[in-house]
Amino acid sequence: MSRAYNFSAGPAVLPEAVLRQAQAELLEWGNEGASVMEVSHRGKAFIDCAAEAESDLRELLGIPSEYGVAFLQGGATTIQAMLPMNFAASGQTVDYVLSGHWGERAVDQAEPYAKVNVAATSKDAGYAEIAERVSWRLSEDAAYVHITDNETIHGVEFPARPDVGNVPLISDMSSNILSRPIDVSKYGMIYAGAQKNIGPSGIAVAVVSPELLARAGQKRAPVLNIGEQLKHDSMLNTPPTFAWYLAGLVFKHLKAQGGVAAIEKINERKAEHLYAAVESSGGFYVNRVKPAYRSRMNVPFFLANDALESAFLKEAQANGLNGLKGHRALGGIRASIYNAMSEAGVAALAQFMTEFARRNG
Ligand SMILES: *Cc1c(COP(=O)(O)O)cnc(C)c1O
Repeated sequence: MSRAYNFSAGPAVLPEAVLRQAQAELLEWGNEGASVMEVSHRGKAFIDCAAEAESDLRELLGIPSEYGVAFLQGGATTIQAMLPMNFAASGQTVDYVLSGHWGERAVDQAEPYAKVNVAATSKDAGYAEIAERVSWRLSEDAAYVHITDNETIHGVEFPARPDVGNVPLISDMSSNILSRPIDVSKYGMIYAGAQKNIGPSGIAVAVVSPELLARAGQKRAPVLNIGEQLKHDSMLNTPPTFAWYLAGLVFKHLKAQGGVAAIEKINERKAEHLYAAVESSGGFYVNRVKPAYRSRMNVPFFLANDALESAFLKEAQANGLNGLKGHRALGGIRASIYNAMSEAGVAALAQFMTEFARRNG
């Protein structure tokens, strides 16, 4: 068997050790005489597994005990729809700062339920930067301010948490959660779909401050009520048990690697290595994002001669470098280098890029 280096943006690479453990436990999990997929979510074994995943996540991110942690179905997109329903009164203003594709999608989901104010957008700059904080036009009475911490398609990441005063800051961290330490207490909420840095698709994580949980929100079905979900330990209905279990294995793996501070150092080295391959190509490869905002998780770039793009992708694949085709919204190449991508994988890609440029430059 030979696993390729997988640079897919999502669903994305998972740690091989985690996959091997899941493989070993697939037929008989613990003392259940069955796989984790085949037992009740109301049984002790799964309840313990779910609780352990939550406590490991709390430890990894340093989540204050008074914050709620929910594991929800429907992905990041459903959470985007839940935000105004849960935290804004009907017709109340919500502020969104757009730095790429996913911020726009968050607005799509919020618009039916709240008055969306786009407080800032870098769309006119092709989302190659983030609008400077001084230019943001925040509302006086917004229920919250929403940002996308890492724009997975445009490869744009907030270098640090922006200051938004006393209004709760809600951050979509789908593609960079657990990639570096954050101070959770400074956020109203962070949320993430699993399939980039947590586990397989089918589950999403929401970390919510007591301040937001105290909000009455709008009339909504219990299943879309985050407070109600928390009251039922995210088991109001059948949760995606396998995805939750696998997320738990990823958390354990991350802890064994030294946690988020240790993985941050590796992630920084990986990103530096890859951006250096772009920058040292003499213009053969181009990354349009302003250096201060370059993502450490998703590195999009173009070939100056775009006629070479399909050859690049084909030869990369032949060299065991997969998943490099850019998103259809942007084109070009995109290398996603999440926690589970090894330094060896990044080195192999950088070397391939340099050799391809030498042969075709
Ligand atoms: C992938 C992604 C989403 C969408 O996630 P789904 O789980 O497919 O709903 C939202 N935001 C960001 C930043 C993403 O990377």
